[in-house]
Amino acid sequence: MNRTIKIPIGNIHFLKEQANRYAQVFNYIVSFGLDNNISNAVQLHHKTYYIFANKKDFLPSQLIISARSKAAETIRGWLSLKKKCDKQILKQQNLITKGKHIYRPLKPISRPITKGLLSVRYDARSFNIDFNKRIISFSSIKGRQKVQFNANPYYEQFYTGKVCSADLCWSRKNKIFFFHVVLEFSDPVLPEHSKILGVDLGLNNLAVSSDGKFYMKHSVRNHITKTRGLKSRLQSKGTPSSKRHLRALSKKEHQFRQDVNHCVTKKIVHQAKISGYDTIAIENLKGIRQQKRGLRKKFRARLNSWPFDQFRAFLTYKALAAGINLAVVDARYTSQKCSRCGHIYKPQRSGNNFHCISCGYQNHADLNASYNISKNLVASDPIKDTGQCMARTTHCGLPDQSAYCNSSAVTILQN
Ligand SMILES: [Zn+2]
Repeated sequence: MNRTIKIPIGNIHFLKEQANRYAQVFNYIVSFGLDNNISNAVQLHHKTYYIFANKKDFLPSQLIISARSKAAETIRGWLSLKKKCDKQILKQQNLITKGKHIYRPLKPISRPITKGLLSVRYDARSFNIDFNKRIISFSSIKGRQKVQFNANPYYEQFYTGKVCSADLCWSRKNKIFFFHVVLEFSDPVLPEHSKILGVDLGLNNLAVSSDGKFYMKHSVRNHITKTRGLKSRLQSKGTPSSKRHLRALSKKEHQFRQDVNHCVTKKIVHQAKISGYDTIAIENLKGIRQQKRGLRKKFRARLNSWPFDQFRAFLTYKALAAGINLAVVDARYTSQKCSRCGHIYKPQRSGNNFHCISCGYQNHADLNASYNISKNLVASDPIKDTGQCMARTTHCGLPDQSAYCNSSAVTILQN
């Protein structure tokens, strides 16, 4: 289980120059690798390392190596993405030659060249953190630096973890640098599935759990409908001002969704914990996308616009941290099946109502589905991927990060 903590270290003037140089090295190696068709990290190292290592005081050698490994990963990721994308484009071109109209033709993906600052990746040799003295020591273009950071009451619970890696990132919003430190914890011993909480995901209610709790009734749907209208009006305008508004809107929407996902998953895990459930079962998210086939276009668009994969990632790491299993369940027929007698018949569900024609059972359709999910538990392995601990706002119940960041009086101990 990994958790990431964000430690502000203020705005140290030469770190921007360092991030810039790091980006230069990264861009050069990416271009070199793509031009010469090399994605192997060792080969890239032999071909490019001395170009930068021979430049006096350009970048510490450990950071050149880290930029190279980052570039090698990027090249490999980009090549596989390009392969997929080229396939799709070919498919579209075939359709166009057959006379079909393509609403939004795909363009070839551009090279992964970064403009501006790149976050610098550190490892155990180039980075060290002392949680007791609250001192970070890291290598930089001005030699080894030692920086003291402020205590954060929320993150203190994670100080026992083993440091895996750290990224030095520039925050455009706060105008300071942050260290994103990844800490590793041993996985908690999870209990056997004995008391299972089924959770049905959807958009009428974002989540309905089998203990009868409804999360985010209507508000998500209303929000999506409202912003969709505004978005389409702005898109049809096409003026610079409308484009600016669109960018701001999409950022706001992203934050809204992330926030809702954080809050709801937190509530579900908390509820499961206090009610003594040892397993949370959710439907396989592929099911959600497949369900859309029979749905109206408007509803399909709404369904696609919600980040359910993010929801699952949040639920996974929160459940794991609370010592609760997370199991993924086959989603087929969960909404059409009677949770009492198991009779499957599509018209039994109409809107929010479920009425079994076999045994007469009646209930809210989403609640019935959540009962089915808890009964359907087939995959008994908890999902192993772990999410990240992110800085949250106050209304999730966590300390307000922005206040903490702005008050950071950071001191450089020595150069
Ligand atoms: Zn029935």
